[in-house]
Amino acid sequence: MKILVVGSGGREHALCWAIAKSDQCEQLFCAPGNAGIRDVAECVAIKAEDVEGIVQFSMDQSIDLVVIGPEAPLVLGLADKLDAVGIKSFGPSAAAAELEGSKGFMKDILAKYEIPTAEYQRFTDVEAARAYVKEKGAPIVVKTDGLAAGKGVTVAQSLEEALKAVDDAMVGGTFGDAGAEVVIEECMVGEELSFFAICDGMTARAFGSAQDHKAVFDGDKGPNTGGMGAYSPAPVCTPEIEAQIMETIITPLMIGMANEGKPYKGVLFAGLMITVQGPKVIEFNVRFGDPECQVLMMRLGNDILALLDASASGALDQARPAWKDETALTVVMAADGYPGAYEKNTVIRNLDAAQADEAVTIFHAGTALGENGDLLATGGRVLNVTARADSVTDAQAKAYEAVNKVNWPHGYFRTDIGWRAVGREKAEN
Ligand code: AMP
Repeated sequence: MKILVVGSGGREHALCWAIAKSDQCEQLFCAPGNAGIRDVAECVAIKAEDVEGIVQFSMDQSIDLVVIGPEAPLVLGLADKLDAVGIKSFGPSAAAAELEGSKGFMKDILAKYEIPTAEYQRFTDVEAARAYVKEKGAPIVVKTDGLAAGKGVTVAQSLEEALKAVDDAMVGGTFGDAGAEVVIEECMVGEELSFFAICDGMTARAFGSAQDHKAVFDGDKGPNTGGMGAYSPAPVCTPEIEAQIMETIITPLMIGMANEGKPYKGVLFAGLMITVQGPKVIEFNVRFGDPECQVLMMRLGNDILALLDASASGALDQARPAWKDETALTVVMAADGYPGAYEKNTVIRNLDAAQADEAVTIFHAGTALGENGDLLATGGRVLNVTARADSVTDAQAKAYEAVNKVNWPHGYFRTDIGWRAVGREKAEN
């Protein structure tokens, strides 16, 4: 098969790395890719949001399957446009991608199909929103409706904080159009879990679990980022919890989306809270998480391409993932200063030595090759140093051993990725 992966982050490097190992993969392209992806795929200079450019390239090259990494091209209808010219893709239609694009749409689907989530109401009128907040009291969660680059959520511990979040979104215009409508919901208590399922419009297969660290500093402190590290599987996701998630959340959602005329294909990334009443939905994403994808690909024990193709072809009833009986953990190395301002084009060295161990792989995010062949850091999140081992404790040790071999004086990383799971292992032993 001829494959095109769309995107340029650590997620897409991990996907390309896994796809390149498949016997079915004849030729692999990535648009636009990065310096690490160049080692496993042919990078083409087309931006992920350039939907027309990607469709044209796919037709010109007779691509058999397009694997869409980020959400932006999905929301722009890339899967629909490929479908219209008879090219298969891994990823949902624009209509199904509304599960991530609109929190209001997502919450209405959950309510209609009785899928457990926080109690909520949608508001377009600021006075009504204020009154609801006052009636329910704190803690309470205020969310803007559209895509606000992950920043549209306030978990308010006090009434003042909640009212300010409502005003910021609806009066202040902090989030532009994204804040014209807000969703106000009950604050759920429990342990958070990222759960993945791959779907073909009818059938869904559980596709692993992970926990990530969004905050920039150790101890989960400081501003949120795209993710500073992750590990898989999540210890909280026991086989019983997984079965419960499939039965009460994923399967009813598949049926609901099909009923609504928006059958769901691709990967569904469910952000869940494991509460005392069972798993409840916080949010859905319509693509793999980054860096969660990196740890999932490290653990996958069978052919990713067969699974992606089965999702695109409606044949998942005949394919299922297999997993290595190991934990994978990834540490993100970011440019010093991220998520604020940071320097670009600083030089990174010694990556080959850092990943000499067969169980260590460094996935690139914001990297490019300089004119003289130097590896340069060009983004906020830059490297994903990923290791496999028999326990979270060992995977963590192995990942940090590799991190410490990377020669990048301008790099920053958290030193405690996996702390909760490592603590759990210590308590058990
Ligand atoms: P979201 O963008 O919806 O995933 O929200 C971002 C983060 O806010 C989540 O990862 C949770 O930590 C937190 N959060 C969102 N909704 C709730 C809720 N209803 N109860 C408790 N925490 C929440």
